[in-house]
Amino acid sequence: MPKSYRVPVLLAVAAGTLLFVAAPFAIRLVAQQAQPSSRVGATIKLPAASAEKIREHVKYLSSDALEGRGMGQPGGDKAADYIAKQFASYGLEPAGDDDTFFQNVAMVAMKTLPDTTFQMVPDQGDPLTLKLLDDFVTSNETQKEISDIDAPIVFLGYGIKAPEYQWDDYKGVDLKGKVALLFVNEPISNNPDFFKGKALTYYGRWTYKFEETARRGAVATLIIHRTDLASYHWEVVRNSWGNEKSYLKLDGTPKLQAASWISQESAKKLVGLAQLDLDELFQRAQGRDFKPITLPVHLKAHIASRVRPFVSRNVVAMREGSDPKRNDQAVLYTAHYDHFGIDTSRNPGDQIFHGAVDNATGCGILLELARTFARAKKAPPRTILFAAVTGEEQGLLGSEYLGKRADYLAVKPILDLNFDALAPLGIPQETEVAGADRTTFYPAVQSTASRFGLVIQPDAHPEAGHYYRSDHFSLARVGIPSFSISEGQLFAGHEAAWGEAQSKDYVANHYHQPSDLFHEDWNFKGLAKMTDFGAALGVIAATQWQPIDWLPGDEFAKYQQAARSIDGDALFAGRPDLRLVSAPTIPYPPLARQTRIKGTVVLDVTVSTGGMVTKVEVLSGHPLLQQAPIDALKKWVFAPREGEPRTFRLEVEFALRTYTRGTRRASSVHVSGPLHLVILANGVYLETMSSSVAK
Ligand SMILES: [Zn+2]
Repeated sequence: MPKSYRVPVLLAVAAGTLLFVAAPFAIRLVAQQAQPSSRVGATIKLPAASAEKIREHVKYLSSDALEGRGMGQPGGDKAADYIAKQFASYGLEPAGDDDTFFQNVAMVAMKTLPDTTFQMVPDQGDPLTLKLLDDFVTSNETQKEISDIDAPIVFLGYGIKAPEYQWDDYKGVDLKGKVALLFVNEPISNNPDFFKGKALTYYGRWTYKFEETARRGAVATLIIHRTDLASYHWEVVRNSWGNEKSYLKLDGTPKLQAASWISQESAKKLVGLAQLDLDELFQRAQGRDFKPITLPVHLKAHIASRVRPFVSRNVVAMREGSDPKRNDQAVLYTAHYDHFGIDTSRNPGDQIFHGAVDNATGCGILLELARTFARAKKAPPRTILFAAVTGEEQGLLGSEYLGKRADYLAVKPILDLNFDALAPLGIPQETEVAGADRTTFYPAVQSTASRFGLVIQPDAHPEAGHYYRSDHFSLARVGIPSFSISEGQLFAGHEAAWGEAQSKDYVANHYHQPSDLFHEDWNFKGLAKMTDFGAALGVIAATQWQPIDWLPGDEFAKYQQAARSIDGDALFAGRPDLRLVSAPTIPYPPLARQTRIKGTVVLDVTVSTGGMVTKVEVLSGHPLLQQAPIDALKKWVFAPREGEPRTFRLEVEFALRTYTRGTRRASSVHVSGPLHLVILANGVYLETMSSSVAK
């Protein structure tokens, strides 16, 4: 970048802002003199975690005063404020929106109303009318009050496309504007190399089914419920989907107008309208040669919903790393602070869902991690980021937002360590770190665990897919190696059976119930130990030179790769005619960045049958932003295809990170929805400061 650009901008900066940059500057100089070596970590000393402090946090966060920390309720807001105040008192830097500790997460709660109707209309014969809640449940992810659908139904087997297992149920079928009908779960397998054997992969989760079909342009998706596959009864589906469901406010991610489940009985009748047999279809779905079947049946649906927008907050703070070459990367710690809040329709005295174990304990650990890292005389080379997230109980929403917005953070997370519901029962002798073994960081986890006298316990129920049900998953799915740190069942002075009994009692009698209460006789020394264990892992990750990656072939490895380049599948979702072969990235034009110009450029692009881009036409956008996408797009190459040349309209959004302090971070490109690219760069005077500091 020509130096002349910097000068006027630097002059424009208020003198006061220069002052606070001076302090990190001094630290950086010292750090730069240190020889890079793998022993740097040995010099990072953290104070030991305090059991007493964790106890105070858990006691307060689960007290009546916080009213169960409901999302969108005063108690939840109080909890967020408390956590932010603690972060500030430790001297951590804010890492949320606009130099605050908060990341505002806009959400929408949807409740499906009783006048919602589903009718299956065959090309010939009488229609089949389904009964809401008895035969089907549905939720309008597009966040509209009314949606009407009349579209053909396509049976898709499991609805899975998994290149790593050479599996593709779609076989190029066009789902645009159609209704997907599919089974929950994944092909039956005992082979660990095929859909992980008995363990559930993400492809088997119902969330994947809705996401993948929406990506392909479906308007509605009907998941066929089978108790034997879903591991829960229709009653469970009915109860949880009969209530209000919360979503992140629409952000360009494709969504379904009717995200639905139908009972096995109804599915039988539905395929019967097409003279097909459900059991036979299930058998067919087990093979790689399965092909989608368009049924001679339409779904005619009217979906009426109550729409309730609200805002909740993640709380984010950081301790900047001491190595200026690496402190744009961060080890992230997460724990959700939300719980189920207060339900005034219950009996007085039993209205507050205290959520002491779930997850005041994780918050206590997160806060103690924050305090000890803040107190360390010298920060680790990489930055340490702390995020208390909201909306976990409603479907990992706060962490989903954090993950989706990871590119906007001042620093780039390279590893997420999550804490969710650790019972303060005593000194743990075991740890569960399910998912750590998917990453190249596992040897460090193993040696650290043994240093702490913790035996690593394998996931007792891999078929239940727990890995996909806690906040670390939201980071994993954007490619960041992530796992939760938990206790096992063996505690000092007890038999394993004791721990097992405690855990069974908790699940049966207190989990997600008002009785998940704080107990005065709880022993917090174990949580202090887990905090120290987590801190030790963080120090290693924030110090070591080897990158932390998913193991080759892991289902999340592809997201990590995608994060490094343009994810063609996501960008051209729903456009099977456009398969991106290579795509040089689009840089943020330096002059636009210097002058803080942001905005969206809309372009029409023509692709020849040979796959080359032959024409790029700008429809709108700031003149300073237009040339970069034109130049880059002309170099994009697509898979050749017969017939007419193809065209697509692309939106390229240029956005600036808003931090006025924090570290320098490279520009990045990500796909925020079909045909929508976001190019992110740092606000320029941050860049200017850092550059001048480094000189
Ligand atoms: Zn929970």
